[in-house]
Amino acid sequence: MDITHCHYHPAEPATWHCAPCRRPYGDCCVPLNADAPDQTPGCPLCRRELTFLGAANSAQPFWERLPSFFRYGLQPGPLSLCAVLALAGMFMPSSLLLWFLLFSLATKYLYGVIEACSQAESRAPSLTSAFFGEGYSLFFKQLVVLLVAAIPLWLARGSETLYLLVDLAIMLVLPASIIRLALDKELSAALSPVQVGQVIGAMGWRYLILFAFLFALWQSPAYLAFFLGEGVPKAVLLPVMLFFSGYFSVVMCALMGYAVFQYQGPLGYIVATEDGADAYPEAEWRRRVALIEAEVRLKEGQGDSALDTLASALERTPEDFQLNERFHRLLFALRARERCLRHLAHYLPLAVRANPAQAATAFLNGRALQADYLPDDPAVCEALAVSLSERHKHREALSLLRNLHRRAPDYPFLARAYLLAARLLAEGPGDVEQARKLLAFVQARYPRNVQSPEARQLEALLTRLAPET
Ligand SMILES: [Zn+2]
Ligand SMILES: [Zn+2]
Repeated sequence: MDITHCHYHPAEPATWHCAPCRRPYGDCCVPLNADAPDQTPGCPLCRRELTFLGAANSAQPFWERLPSFFRYGLQPGPLSLCAVLALAGMFMPSSLLLWFLLFSLATKYLYGVIEACSQAESRAPSLTSAFFGEGYSLFFKQLVVLLVAAIPLWLARGSETLYLLVDLAIMLVLPASIIRLALDKELSAALSPVQVGQVIGAMGWRYLILFAFLFALWQSPAYLAFFLGEGVPKAVLLPVMLFFSGYFSVVMCALMGYAVFQYQGPLGYIVATEDGADAYPEAEWRRRVALIEAEVRLKEGQGDSALDTLASALERTPEDFQLNERFHRLLFALRARERCLRHLAHYLPLAVRANPAQAATAFLNGRALQADYLPDDPAVCEALAVSLSERHKHREALSLLRNLHRRAPDYPFLARAYLLAARLLAEGPGDVEQARKLLAFVQARYPRNVQSPEARQLEALLTRLAPET
């Protein structure tokens, strides 16, 4: 089926559209602000307001979920309606007024089903809900629609072919008119060719699928009567027929309601998606908008504009790891050498705390831009060395620790850092002699660390690597 997907994420169904940019977007690209739920989100490219497409692309098409409509009719609400109709068929006196009352109640209930299903509510309304609120006049409005529809039929009665054609045309537009009546509750809407035509236009040729299903369901009670007709007394047949007419009507209304849900965008009945898109508190929302804008702009080849977006987001939240990470990657990808190196001074201390592996990558990027790049902070150097040693980048790790006691004489963890360096020397280049010297240096200079687990481990390692010395 012709489903539109997010322009930047081809696996995501489109839920928004920017007309000026001619770009469809999925929820992936349009985070919502939970603190301003009525705010229309903006386009990640041009920031103008987006148009909501509703669930047209994300909702499962109605023709793929037919069993769910039959199950819908088996809930307590619909079954009580069927039971009431059947009981009325058995016991209700043949008073026109009583039957009118019953049918207006049933119609109100059924239109309630269309409305509930158009908002993707999977629970059917209770029958008691039909006793409250407005909407009893819906039955009479529906009667008027049917009477109006009878006029062209009456006019065409002269020619059999014309009569059939008119009959077919009326049956074709009737579901659209019912949908209008259910949603607008106005007789004028149900009779307006423009508004009824809009329903059909919104669904396009899929309206024909809807019509075909509705037609088959509409015929079902009649077929049932045909099969049961032989030998079943009328006193039994009437309640059975009423019961099943009620059931199939609910199924039809659930189907029509869901079709409205599926085509809510083009129909102008924007409600939501079935699970509801994720909305975030203001701060988190701003963060996500910045990340997405940067991603989209970069994909559009607007690297500088992507940088600006992230830079202004970082002015608000300079400590945000993810924003910084994205900013770093972008600066590196754009080979903005000076800016990237300047940003590393801010980013690396953050990154070694938040994600040491990413910190190591960023450091290596720094090295790619400047061969002797070295962070100032000794703690950052040590953390990076640990992370790099886990990646077996011994040479780079060692370069971070070299001469640390001169570069940062007040660093309280010099001994620990040098023990790491000694281990790296032994494991990496296999320079056991150098490692021993370094260990001796640490033991002489920092005697308190001689019995530390690191020192003992290292001694054991050195003995194992070079037992003869
Ligand atoms: Zn997307
Ligand atoms: Zn746009």
